[in-house]
Amino acid sequence: MKKYFVIGNPIKHSLSPQLHNYWIKKNNLDAFYDKKKLKEDEVGDLISLIKQNEISGINVTIPFKKTVIPYLDKLSPEAEKTQSVNTITLYKNKLIGHNTDTEGFKLAIKKLNFEIKNKIILILGAGGVVPSLIYTLKNMGANKIIISNRTRGKAEILKKLNNEIEIINWGNISPCDVIINATSIGLNENDEMNLKLENFGKNKLYFDVIYNPRETNFLKIGRKLGNLTENGKYMFIYQAMSAFKLWHGIIPQIDNKVIELLDND
Ligand code: NDP
Repeated sequence: MKKYFVIGNPIKHSLSPQLHNYWIKKNNLDAFYDKKKLKEDEVGDLISLIKQNEISGINVTIPFKKTVIPYLDKLSPEAEKTQSVNTITLYKNKLIGHNTDTEGFKLAIKKLNFEIKNKIILILGAGGVVPSLIYTLKNMGANKIIISNRTRGKAEILKKLNNEIEIINWGNISPCDVIINATSIGLNENDEMNLKLENFGKNKLYFDVIYNPRETNFLKIGRKLGNLTENGKYMFIYQAMSAFKLWHGIIPQIDNKVIELLDND
């Protein structure tokens, strides 16, 4: 039986096992997917089990998406550019790091039929997921990407890798067509974003990378102000779909049960 893991710390919240095990069963594969909470100094040993054929693949989540890179032989172009790995495969006895968050985000936006080309995008946050958003938005033809982060220095580090992005101070307003919440504000139902969202105007896309809770206060306010809103559910499903395809060579079906698995949590 092939074994797959998602590694992170914390990891309790991860819905990846439910999703992957559902698809594994549906496709009659002899495999099992589990989660593993690791300390940073345990990451290398677990990855080495792939080369020993004890594990067939690993998903990586917070805070190890960069940590895993030195243990790998090669990175996909997306992983290289974002310096972020969320999926590890073995190919011709080489450990390959992939980033399927980029594909997940792209497909989630496409599903909305929203045209990113020539749009101005404001990203709130500068954490681990943001390089994947920037990479995808640039590829989709965004006109301008603005970053606003509580700790300005972290946004400035991102600018060193992507010189064309603009930075505004946390709390400042800027004209834009899309606002993305890429902070962790909203993971707890009562989290409030101390930004005056009403000053941004309406008819925008409010996108939250968080999918649990289903509607963060950011999305609630965005919706009440007359904007299109979308949470991170499909981004999550599509990144998992891409990882599944890399490991098993099968595009898994996104059926009602998949949506239920994520909605019922
Ligand atoms: P990080 O921990 O790397 O970054 C967290 C970000 O949130 C930082 O920019 C941090 O700002 C900001 N932040 C946290 N608390 C506050 C606060 N009280 N006020 C202002 N800013 C705050 O996390 P990730 O980038 O890895 O993940 C961010 C979110 O994206 C998470 O909720 C995660 O679950 C979600 N995610 C969803 C995915 C999906 O498929 N839908 C994929 C990947 C992530 P500062 O720098 O100042 O600390």
